[in-house]
Parts: sequence; structure tokens; C-alpha cells
Amino acid sequence: MDVKKPFEIARETLKQLTARKMAPTPANYQMIYSEVAGVATELPFPADRLRDIAQALPTKTPGQQKQRGLLDSAIRQLNWDGVKNALMAYGGFSPPAVTPLCAATPASSAPLVESPLSSAVAAPALTADFFEQIARLIEYALPALGTDDERFAEQTQLLLTAMRQPEPDVLAVKLMLSNFGNRLSFAAEDQAEIKVTLLKLLHLIIENIGELSLDDRWLTGQIEALMTASSPPLSLRRLDDVERRLKDVIFKQTEAKGRALEAQEEMRLMLSTFIERLSQMTESTSAYHGQMEENARLIEQAKTMADIAPVLKEVVGATRTMAHDSLTARDELRGMREKAQTTEAELVKLHQELDRVSALARHDPLTGALNRKGLDEALDREVSNVRRKESPLCMAMLDIDNFKTLNDTLGHATGDAALTHLATVTREAMRPQDTLARYGGEEFVILLPDTPLDKGIEAMTRLQRELTKRFFLAGTEKILITFSAGVAQMAANESGVEAIKRADQAMYLAKRSGKNRVLGS
Ligand code: GH3
Ligand code: MG
Ligand code: MG
Repeated sequence: MDVKKPFEIARETLKQLTARKMAPTPANYQMIYSEVAGVATELPFPADRLRDIAQALPTKTPGQQKQRGLLDSAIRQLNWDGVKNALMAYGGFSPPAVTPLCAATPASSAPLVESPLSSAVAAPALTADFFEQIARLIEYALPALGTDDERFAEQTQLLLTAMRQPEPDVLAVKLMLSNFGNRLSFAAEDQAEIKVTLLKLLHLIIENIGELSLDDRWLTGQIEALMTASSPPLSLRRLDDVERRLKDVIFKQTEAKGRALEAQEEMRLMLSTFIERLSQMTESTSAYHGQMEENARLIEQAKTMADIAPVLKEVVGATRTMAHDSLTARDELRGMREKAQTTEAELVKLHQELDRVSALARHDPLTGALNRKGLDEALDREVSNVRRKESPLCMAMLDIDNFKTLNDTLGHATGDAALTHLATVTREAMRPQDTLARYGGEEFVILLPDTPLDKGIEAMTRLQRELTKRFFLAGTEKILITFSAGVAQMAANESGVEAIKRADQAMYLAKRSGKNRVLGS
């Protein structure tokens, strides 16, 4: 066989491209070039497809994040070995000691892929094991894509079945994977857009609730908290918080609306009676005027006293009726005024009652932190998370130092403002997944998920430092608020309440050993 020179191969390649009516893409050019030159064609590395798959993988745990990083870098380096190892680690398998999928030694592995153009194949082999990894990857990614698109679900199932055949048809699978990749990218974009739109809707609803609500400090605070809680980045925990706050707001709104409607109806009835009385009064007044005019005319025309006597009698009668009507109207109006006052008093009572109702809520109205009921619920949730994920959970009990003195010297209102300041600084210093609850007067509990004891103590010490940086301002006076805290990590055999008790004991020891310090239990 005579060896062709490169320019001859190139010319022949272009001729073939034209003859076969193929698009002059680099991939087509390379394929024909290899064919004309009689050398093996390497299948191109499907970097885009693999990137699609990589992007659909969850990165919730540090382990997943690490493997995702390794996968991304393997795709960038067109390294099949790296791709395989990262995928295996994702699937929970350790990478094999000897790597059969090595692109550098293609001849040593039995190839499953045959080039349609040449039997002397040098492409990397795709093993059933590798397909199984991709199949799992796809299965892990599916929940993130929703279940609305039936056609997509069907295609995915077909692809999974094809990949799990004892001897998969590689070319068919490749085509299906390519289609899957396309749809996957659309589905992922859709999901992201759905999330953004839902958030916008949620904000709209929250804003509307805010506008409709009564002038109520508790509600205003809740609406602000809702807006903050529903801003990205979102986590399931934050959404959970949004849900609980919304439930509280809706509960209170419903209660308020029912009562407000009743009061409104009463006011409406009174108003209509008032208007009716007013028109009656106008009527009787104009009748009186008419009668008076008539009587005046009769008096003018009267020639004798005898003519005047009946007219006078009529005037007296009409005046008496008029006076009587006015008296009745005055009594009725007085009655209505009293009723209006009673209704107003009822409205005041209603507001007080609503404040009492907010005790049923899960948030403390002063600081916006969870109250005891909210803490109980949050604790249940965190504890069941711990049992499920076997991750450490810390509880911190925090008590402000010398708070009574602050109250006594600067007044109760300043004390209240100091509590709000502490809650604000704490919320800002904590991670979004941490939970702040008001345990009692000036005592707070903080739940720190995924946190071992040493990190929990560190977090509380950081909060102490933050408070020294952010003074509390009482008027123009800068006041340093300090606290003593105890931290406990929940043990496997204890309940959340028991762990809080240990944190409380550690806090007590922190007080005894001089205050303004954090002790672990
Ligand atoms: P220690 O450093 O030992 O904790 O002393 P302390 O003064 O902080 O603690 P103590 O328990 O003696 O006093 C707590 C005070 O907190 C008493 C109570 O009047 C006050 N307090 C409780 N709830 C509130 C509140 O909602 N607002 C205000 N302003 N004060 C409160
Ligand atoms: Mg106390
Ligand atoms: Mg105290």
C-alpha cells in the first residue's frame, strides 16, 4: 500500500467531505482524514455530556463536593480514569487498584466500542461497570428534575434499561445519552427558573399580607422576618422557618379578620340608623317649616283674634311635635354614641386578645426569636436529623450577665431594647442553619446542627467577641452586654431536653466562675 503524503490526504479528505455532502466540521474532517490516512479514529471525549451530568449531581455533603471537584477537573483534562474514579466514589465504591479504563493504554484493554470506520479500534473501552456508574448517577440526579415531564421520565427509563443490558449496545446508548444530556440541560434550567418564579410569587404574597394586615407590631415584625427568611440562598431549614412563620401569620390574620368584620358590621348598622334618623329629622324640619310659612301667611291675612286663635293652636301643636321629634332624635343619637364607644372598647379588647393569641405562635414578639413552643418543635426536628444523619448537634444556653442591674439603672424599656440587640447580633453572627430561641427572660438557647462540642464553644466565643464590637446604644450611652454560656453536645443516649439541661448546668458554672465566659459540658 502506497503511503499518501499529508497534502494528498488533506485534498482527498476535502473531496470526500463534498462528495458525501457532510458539513465541514472539525469532527467530520478528522473522521474522514483518519479514514483516508488509514489510521484509527479516536472517539472524541464527550466533555459536554459529562459536564451536563456532573452539573446535575448533588453537592450537599463535603464528600460530594470533593468528588464533584475531582470529576470537573478530570473532564477538563479529558481523563477517563479520573472520571471513573470520581463517579465510583459518588456511588460509594472505592476506585480499583488497577485502572482498566486507561486512555493511555487503549490496546491493552478489550474494546467494547468499534469504530464504524475502522476495525483497528483504539478507543477507550466502556465497561458494564462504567455504564452502571452512569446509570446510578442519572438516578441520583432525577429527583432534582421534578416528575412533570412524562416523556423525559420514559426516555430516562429506556436509557437506564439500555445501559444495564448484559452487553449494552454502546452506539445506541451513546445516542440516548446525548439526547438525555440535551433534555437534562433544559430540565435543569426549567427547575432553576421555577424556583426563582416561585420565590417571586412568595414575596408577592408576603408583601400583600403585610399590606392587608392590621397595624400590628407583631405582624410587621413577622412579615419582615418572612422576607428575610425567603431570600436566597435557601435551604430546607429556612423554608421550614418560612412555613412556620406563614402559618402563624395566617392564623392570626384569620382570627383578626373575623373579629374585625363583626365590628365593621356593627358600625355599618349604626351608620345606617344614623342616616335614617337624619333624613327623618330633615323631613320633619321641612314639614315644620312649611307649616310655619303657611301659618305666617294665615296670620298676615287674619283680621280678627278669632281668625288667629286656630292658627296659634296649630303653631303650638307643630312646635311641640317638632320639639318631641328633636328630643327623640337626640336620645337616639346619644344611644348611638354610647354604642360606638362600647364598640371602640371592644376593638381595644380585640387587639389585646390578638396579642394573647400570638402567644400561641412560635415566635417571641419582642426579639423575633423562637419561643418555647417554637424551640420544642425545632429541637424535635434537629434531633431526628441527628438520628438520621448521625451528625453532631450542639446546644448552647446563654444568660445575660447582670441584666437586673441594667434594668434597674436604665429602665425596663432599655432592658427590652438590649434583649432585641442581643438577638439581632446573635442571628447575624450565626449560620443560617442555626436556631435561636428565647428560653426565658434573658436566657436564650441556640441549636447548632452539624457542630461538635469544640466548634460549638468556638461559635459562642465568637459571639462574645462580636458583642464587644457591636455596642448596645442606650440613647447615646454605649453599653457592653456580656453573657455567660454553657455548651453541650447531645450524646447518643440522651434526649434534646437532657442536653439543654447539661448546657444550663455548664452555664451556671460559667456564672459561678466569674461570668462573661463560655464553658463546655
Ligand atoms: P446574672 O448575671 O447572675 O444572670 O444576673 P442577672 O441580673 O442577669 O439575673 P437575674 O436572673 O437575677 O435577673 C434577670 C432579670 O431579667 C430579672 C427580670 O426583671 C429581667 N427580665 C426578664 N425578662 C425581661 C424582659 O422581657 N424585659 C426586661 N427588660 N427585663 C426582663
Ligand atoms: Mg437568668
Ligand atoms: Mg442573667
